[in-house]
Amino acid sequence: MYYDLITVGGGPAGVMGAAAAAQRGLKVVLLEKNDRLGKKLSITGNGRCNFTNLCDPASFMDNIVSNGRFLYTSLKRFDNHSLVSFFNSLGVKTKVEDDNRVFPASDRAEEIIKALHNYLHKSKVEIRFNSNVKKVLAVNNRVSGVLLDDNNRVAGENVLIATGGLSYRQTGSAGDGFRMARALGHFVAPPRPALVPLVAGGKWVKQLQGLSLQNINVQAVLEEKVIAEQTGELIFTHFGVSGPVILKLSSLINKCPPSSLALRIDLFPSISTTQLDAQLIEIFKKNHGKYLKNALGDLVPRKMLPLLQIFAGVDILKQVDQITKKEREKLAGSLKRIALTIKGARPLNEAMVTAGGIDTNEINPSSMESKIVRGLFFAGEVIDVDALTGGFNLQIAFSTGYLSGVSVKGENEHA
Ligand SMILES: Cc1cc2nc3c(=O)[nH]c(=O)nc-3n(C[C@H](O)[C@H](O)[C@H](O)COP(=O)(O)OP(=O)(O)OC[C@H]3O[C@@H](n4cnc5c(N)ncnc54)[C@H](O)[C@@H]3O)c2cc1C
Repeated sequence: MYYDLITVGGGPAGVMGAAAAAQRGLKVVLLEKNDRLGKKLSITGNGRCNFTNLCDPASFMDNIVSNGRFLYTSLKRFDNHSLVSFFNSLGVKTKVEDDNRVFPASDRAEEIIKALHNYLHKSKVEIRFNSNVKKVLAVNNRVSGVLLDDNNRVAGENVLIATGGLSYRQTGSAGDGFRMARALGHFVAPPRPALVPLVAGGKWVKQLQGLSLQNINVQAVLEEKVIAEQTGELIFTHFGVSGPVILKLSSLINKCPPSSLALRIDLFPSISTTQLDAQLIEIFKKNHGKYLKNALGDLVPRKMLPLLQIFAGVDILKQVDQITKKEREKLAGSLKRIALTIKGARPLNEAMVTAGGIDTNEINPSSMESKIVRGLFFAGEVIDVDALTGGFNLQIAFSTGYLSGVSVKGENEHA
């Protein structure tokens, strides 16, 4: 059997590429090493699958961390609205939540996977599970097929590598595509963890384990310069910090050497230090005669109170009336600038997304075809692209998959 397209990987990028090509009448086979499609897709959005974001194109670009310009054509050709319409046409009802995030109305990622599976069948894509591709075969810089780990060959005109990144390896994305691309002469930017919790220094961090801070601002600081900041929720863990704000920051700072990075937490980003000091004056007046730790109970999370000695050098067992102006001002300043040293990120396997990947300079952005090997295509996380949370990464996988599928030339389509 000779195929027009061999798709390696049954995640969102591979499924979309395979189906888009088959819809044009091409003969397509999809090879997936697992015994089912979309193992990673099934755990996205906590099992609810935040599959895209309905923000406008400019904001969409703002949420792409690496190589947004490379994605311009694919995101235009098959955009967020097209993806929502696509799922609606497959019978999946969708809903939009805060920050324009789109989910299946059922809150079930499995519904998305089932719809994609049915679509592949309808498009007449041959699906082969438990098929682990070891190598892409090429002759004179032209693809000729793939070799499976059982040494069987599958012959074809084009190969789409959609094997994902290197995180959550248990889902099947174990960096195989990086290896295959390197063997064919492609440069692979070193994989780095993105959207990942951070490991923090300082013994006191452990004391705050389990504490969630809402509506706070966190700045990432490199050599005294603020390089990124985010506002939202932060969660202290046994190793450091996590939560939406930290995941996003981790993607924005992952090219920096962690040893020189620090975070600054502002517990009250909506008011100035002077305004916070004025609030403290009021609180102290109302709590005349009380210990500082009891007076601040409504302002500062209880778990954090014992740490005010470290943050601001004030004794929480002092009565508020005995706190000097200087101490009070220092307290206000410290609550708006808690410093945290960063030791690094949690391992790649714990990252939601892999940054780095196949160099975008070596891929044609209008087709997703390799500039090095003819008939070789890439889609999804295997490429050196990554975005923040909010449905952007899945949209990228679907869009690049779609563009590759409509771009491949079948055996009989060459001029
Ligand atoms: C916990 C978690 C939650 C997430 N939540 C969201 C979210 O809500 N919204 C969002 O936009 N993004 C989310 N992401 C990111 C998103 O899941 C990925 O960016 C996306 O799945 C990438 O799609 P892909 O098709 O490129 O790769 P993958 O989904 O990783 O699929 C690659 C497929 O290729 C197969 N494969 C690999 N190597 C081979 C081989 N040698 N032979 C055959 N098959 C192979 C794998 O088994 C796998 O099925 C989340 C990620 C994680 C880990």
